[in-house]
Amino acid sequence: MKPQDQRLPHCADCKIERTICRYEDGKGPASCPTLNLPEVIELSLKEYKKGENLEFAANASIQEAQCYVNGEKDNPHIRYAVKPRIQETIEFAHKMGYKRLGLAFCAGLKDEAKIVSDILKQQGFEVASVICKVGGTPKEFLGLLDEQKITPGEYETMCSPVTQAKVLNAASTDFNILMGLCVGHDSLMMRFSERLCTVLVVKDRVTGHNPLAAIQLHRSYYKKLGEEKFDRGESLSISAKPRP
Ligand code: SF4
Repeated sequence: MKPQDQRLPHCADCKIERTICRYEDGKGPASCPTLNLPEVIELSLKEYKKGENLEFAANASIQEAQCYVNGEKDNPHIRYAVKPRIQETIEFAHKMGYKRLGLAFCAGLKDEAKIVSDILKQQGFEVASVICKVGGTPKEFLGLLDEQKITPGEYETMCSPVTQAKVLNAASTDFNILMGLCVGHDSLMMRFSERLCTVLVVKDRVTGHNPLAAIQLHRSYYKKLGEEKFDRGESLSISAKPRP
């Protein structure tokens, strides 16, 4: 293990039963960020005191709890989940007092975006919805070659998440909801949105937008997830600097 790796968190590998991050008397392994990074934790907690962060985080946690009901009167640990994410999103937005919601959606989910837009309106919100192709900018703008398009030989406009974000910024939305944006496009949308964002739908073209389907089948039908080395193929350029 390199010296800097000792502070690399590995929560996904943690085998502690009563963890320090969940129990007052809990424990953590050598790589535990709760034990090793008190300065990072302290700095992060200071962020909650800034702007709307505390109200936002508190309402998210209140909403989280309200997504369950107690299954048995005498046992608070028996809980049933009762609200789908769309309801959780609506109730959270109401808690925050948001009036105008932005909906940044993928062209492939246009029908579903119409349904979501109508539901949000029925729940009393104003809705500004923007498709990924907004701006109608050809993919050549990104430097893509014809053979790098989905359908070579065709006029193909790019997904423009920066434009999506800026259109919603111009519409003065209070909160933005992402629906089915591609990997990376979602990242840029969140970077350029002036308002906080939530994700209602993550794109997964082969699982009906349920990435967990492939993950949960990783020992059977999706064994290739661990066994095959996936394409590292061509890219336009790699500008990210290697870490020291
Ligand atoms: S914070 Fe520490 S105790 Fe909690 S899961 Fe991560 S490594 Fe384990």
